Amino acid sequence: MTAQVNVQKRNPRPGHRAVIIGGGISGLSSAFFLSQRAAEEHFPLRVTVFEASNRFGGVLRTLTHEDFRMEAGADAFYGGQNDTLDLCSKLGLQEDVIESSPCFRRFVGLKNKQLYPIPGLSGSFSDIFRFLSSPHLSFFEKCRTLEEPLVPCRKEGGDESLASFIRRRLGQGFYQAFVKPLAQGVCMMDPEHLSLEALFPRLRQAEKTYGSLARSFLNKTSWRKEKGRAEFLTLRQGLEGLIHALVRELGECELRKLSPVRQCSYNEGWEISMEDGTVLRADILGLAMNACDASNLLFEAAPGLSRELSAIRYDSIATVNLIYKVEDVPAQGLDFGFLVPMGGERCPFSSLKWFGKTSDGKYLLMRAFLSETMLPGIFHESDEMLKQRMRIFLSDFFDVRAKPLFTDIERYPSALPQYETGHFERVERIEKTALQYPGLFFTGNGFRGFGITDCIHQARISVSGLQFPLF
Ligand SMILES: Cc1cc2nc3c(=O)[nH]c(=O)nc-3n(C[C@H](O)[C@H](O)[C@H](O)COP(=O)(O)OP(=O)(O)OC[C@H]3O[C@@H](n4cnc5c(N)ncnc54)[C@H](O)[C@@H]3O)c2cc1C
Repeated sequence: MTAQVNVQKRNPRPGHRAVIIGGGISGLSSAFFLSQRAAEEHFPLRVTVFEASNRFGGVLRTLTHEDFRMEAGADAFYGGQNDTLDLCSKLGLQEDVIESSPCFRRFVGLKNKQLYPIPGLSGSFSDIFRFLSSPHLSFFEKCRTLEEPLVPCRKEGGDESLASFIRRRLGQGFYQAFVKPLAQGVCMMDPEHLSLEALFPRLRQAEKTYGSLARSFLNKTSWRKEKGRAEFLTLRQGLEGLIHALVRELGECELRKLSPVRQCSYNEGWEISMEDGTVLRADILGLAMNACDASNLLFEAAPGLSRELSAIRYDSIATVNLIYKVEDVPAQGLDFGFLVPMGGERCPFSSLKWFGKTSDGKYLLMRAFLSETMLPGIFHESDEMLKQRMRIFLSDFFDVRAKPLFTDIERYPSALPQYETGHFERVERIEKTALQYPGLFFTGNGFRGFGITDCIHQARISVSGLQFPLF
């Protein structure tokens, strides 16, 4: 942390209070940026974070089994924007940042029990080769895709779904064969509803600026990655290391676990009612949780806002970690990378990541992600049923007959927002209405990006937009 922040640590003056509800990465990083800003501006501010569960971190949790480390929820952060890397540096974690599993570099589809490389939309030679050699598109479908530079631009403004954009520019064949399985497997979202503006702004921009994706690929600068390290990264000690470091750094803040908030109301300042009946007053209120939970808290204080927030839909996700002995997994056909089912196959998951061998070379880790939206009903199946489904799949498809040494199943109800078309318009309405409520800010994965890096970025931006002093 900077020297200025330490000013606050040396001179904590009681004065204004900020309450942040939600102790995931969004809430803790908001508390960090808020404390930092208050200290820099010599503004006396006590920051309290309320977390309903018995731990901080939300979706970020690192598990250990014997000597083996794995993630229960999120497993990597995107290094292409600097926010997470900057936060890691401020927390003294820069030496701990390492590249995550190579699975993120290799996307493969599974169809008719065979693995196929999926071309990306980067316009690289390898992507073009994968596309031209793919057995999943007919000659005519390939011709339709290659006609892309001749397709006129969309005249209407406003948002569009990913499915509509890809069909329009690259044809139904390309959409069906590659984009649909990728969107369902990687984003765990239905591309027919998925907002292009919110999730793939660069595709939209490419069409606007160059009139065609192909022309924008030729102009490589438009596809150059943002600053930072354009890779998926993690921490040597696991992603929860970021949470531990934040909690340590926030020593001067009041961090309360097992403190669910029931309601928030506004009466010349915020009144925060806890589930245990206590009420606390605050000048600043940060809601750093999923939008539906935030909607419930504001039901009485801000019914209009609450309605808009409740319209942001979430998906429930289960993750399955499987550890095998290396000798129990036949080498043939495995080491797949990031695997998504391409339809027609009865897969018990939306995507399967091959994390590869442990550093001692003795064990292998695979991670399955199960989305309730993509596989309705699966989230509510018993652990035993999910384990059995995974075992049958791995045995049938990859000849893995041995039982895993260790299986962990985690469930995240209503955890992954579904950015549907018109999402940003709704978020803008929410942000505009929120301005009527002094000291109120929203952050979290339901608004302007759901990745870890997006959450940290939003926390920083939300906090920098607050008005100091408050009175
Ligand atoms: C299974 C899964 C895998 C993912 N993998 C990746 C990945 O690999 N890389 C990536 O970049 N992103 C990934 N994401 C997305 C990213 O991890 C999340 O969007 C991000 O961590 C969300 O952080 P958050 O703090 O906004 O929310 P959360 O982590 O959900 O934290 C919100 C917290 O608020 C608390 N809370 C809720 N209501 C109340 C209340 N009334 N009172 C007090 N506390 C309350 C909750 O208990 C929770 O701890 C993944 C998401 C999921 C679900």
